[in-house]
Amino acid sequence: AGAGAVFQAFSLFVKAKEVPAASRCPGGGEGVRWRCCRQAFEELPGIHRHVGLHHSGDVGPTEAPAAEAPGSAAGRPAALCGGSAEVLWALPDTSSISLGDMTSKVGEVLLYYCYCEVKDPEKLCAWQKALCQHLHLTGKIRVASEGINGTVGGSKVATSLYIEVMLSQPLFKNFLCQEDFKRSAGGAHCFPDLRVGVFKEIVPMGIDPKIVSYKETGIHLSPQEFHKEVEQYLSQASQGQSDTILLDCRNFYESKIGQFQGCLAPDIRKFSYFPSYIDENLELFKDKRVLMYCTGGIRCERGSAYLRSKAVCREVYQLKGGIHKYLEEFPDGFYRGKLFVFDDRYAICSNEDIISACRYCGVLWDQYKLCSSQHCRQLVLTCPSCCNKGLTACCPVCQEKELKVTSKAQGQTLKEECECTRRRPRVPIECVSQRRLDTGK
Ligand SMILES: [Zn+2]
Ligand SMILES: [Zn+2]
Ligand SMILES: [Zn+2]
Ligand SMILES: [Zn+2]
Repeated sequence: AGAGAVFQAFSLFVKAKEVPAASRCPGGGEGVRWRCCRQAFEELPGIHRHVGLHHSGDVGPTEAPAAEAPGSAAGRPAALCGGSAEVLWALPDTSSISLGDMTSKVGEVLLYYCYCEVKDPEKLCAWQKALCQHLHLTGKIRVASEGINGTVGGSKVATSLYIEVMLSQPLFKNFLCQEDFKRSAGGAHCFPDLRVGVFKEIVPMGIDPKIVSYKETGIHLSPQEFHKEVEQYLSQASQGQSDTILLDCRNFYESKIGQFQGCLAPDIRKFSYFPSYIDENLELFKDKRVLMYCTGGIRCERGSAYLRSKAVCREVYQLKGGIHKYLEEFPDGFYRGKLFVFDDRYAICSNEDIISACRYCGVLWDQYKLCSSQHCRQLVLTCPSCCNKGLTACCPVCQEKELKVTSKAQGQTLKEECECTRRRPRVPIECVSQRRLDTGK
């Protein structure tokens, strides 16, 4: 069996997932042409990507065929993620773009990820670094053998070129599409510098990708599907009869300033505590349908795979494209407050709600600052009037520490520990009976 046979197997598999024209629903969803794993696909690249990612075992060892001209080269599927000669390491021609346009401050920040097999992460890393420098982009990019995850900022010309180059890169082009890039207003000034590195995981969950793979991920729901699910969940939960958990898998300081109504938001400081959180609270998820979400969808990919590996839930769903994509379609939907982002902007705003309070006086406030104590990296919500009173640290312990540091000059190193870090258990245990549902705003 040659590559042609594999390609044929792939095409047949996709064909088998076609929705017959006669049964395409006239009351919405008429654009749906394929269904697989209870997901709907309207475009060929979408179903190709899904089959390549989740059913490669059913169709042979190769990934999806190239989206265009499948008949060319005797039906030979393109070598994807192969690190072969077909991977392009070139930089785009920017000679017709002025430096002013390329470095304009009126730009955007991109957020994206792509799970796929990368044979030579070091090479991909070097290319990304050169590409970003070439386009005057700043930000953070993680490369691993399981894929790539990045957030970069720059002028609109630069970010558009970056997307174009990424979409034409044979490594990604069958897995990434235009809409996988979440865009928001910003620019190169949103990051202090450019960091590109090779890691074991593209998002640090602390579990070997060979043990919990992205391939075991939960079912993706589009923003509209997720919205409907949340709507149903909230109405059932208000009558006290829900079998669903709406799980925010971000860190506590992210969900604090914005979250879906009625969600369960774990009090964890980093994503690498998420697996222990699941382990310690497994009873909570027993026989439940779990609706998971995060910022851009990447944490849910392997977070849901981890939860699924425990085999206690009835089903695990995840919001495709994360809160970012949800807010594009439902800026005034069930997600209330701001969306925390990991750059100098701290948050993106889509509705006017403020759901958090000043740490000191309790007035509604959701604009984070870094704790003023030198050795502390906690974020603090302190309102302007409290700031003016000198309340600029994350807690009184830190505020005092800061005074000591300034009075004693330098000397002993102070531990990065304060009331905030001590108060919080590494992995919180949820009390099932105390879980109350706050469906109000
Ligand atoms: Zn499928
Ligand atoms: Zn205050
Ligand atoms: Zn502090
Ligand atoms: Zn503190």
